Amino acid sequence: ALEVGRDLGRAMLNARALERERELVRELKALDDYKSKLIATLSHELKSPLTAMLANIELLQHGEDLDPSASEVLAAVDRGAVRLVRVVEDLLLLAKVGDPHLPLLTRPVPLHDVVDDVVNLTSIADQRRVSVDVVGDLDDMVALGDPAEMDILVTNLVTNAMKYSGAGSPVTITLARAGEWVVLSVQDCGIGISPEDRHQLFREFFRSDSAQVKAQPGTGLGLTIVDRILTRHAGRIEVDSELGEGSTFRVFLPAP
Ligand code: ADP
Repeated sequence: ALEVGRDLGRAMLNARALERERELVRELKALDDYKSKLIATLSHELKSPLTAMLANIELLQHGEDLDPSASEVLAAVDRGAVRLVRVVEDLLLLAKVGDPHLPLLTRPVPLHDVVDDVVNLTSIADQRRVSVDVVGDLDDMVALGDPAEMDILVTNLVTNAMKYSGAGSPVTITLARAGEWVVLSVQDCGIGISPEDRHQLFREFFRSDSAQVKAQPGTGLGLTIVDRILTRHAGRIEVDSELGEGSTFRVFLPAP
């Protein structure tokens, strides 16, 4: 009877611990939902006055009789506002692709076209340093996904490759098939990433603590957005990098 009593007591304790754990998970989830809603609401509220601010700055900049010191101040305000708009836009995007209730509408997306569009939107100098390799049949380089999200994903990876490697340093984009996956690799010969930083790359707002990174504009949200888009698409990402040598980001997306 003593043994049975002990077993019963243990089972009750286990059940209580399990219930406490479930409650904690529910609370954490509610907090996370609250955080996402707060970020989305704040970003929405910030966007319109910021856009109006930018328009007004432009108006003033084109006005007559602007003395040089006022013009300098205005340029600084403009830079600040542009940076804020970038943060707000990234926050809105993150709230969107991080929302588990947002339906994913997929269709076959020719990745070569997405890459072409992204590269064509960069400066002529940047276009010169990019090469695009297709390993295999071009018709096979089709992923099942949301075209707008594919565009964001490729844009963020290619922009990073450009930002974190010197002007003129080559960037290679490769498309290949691996079984049921289409693999998009973006390789640069830039500053590289330390092993400690590699673990944190996909965390919200993470930026490496180096002068070369700080010298570039950025929000630390680009790779978080990439990661959320991949989660939505049941894809994944691998990173190979050597400090001072360069980095390769390899994305696996489902083929139709
Ligand atoms: P952002 O570029 O806006 O800072 P990301 O989320 O895109 O933010 O990247 C996070 C950080 O990861 C960057 O600040 C940088 O430290 C590092 N990183 C990303 N891509 C590269 C790359 N190709 N080479 C070196 N470091 C990179």
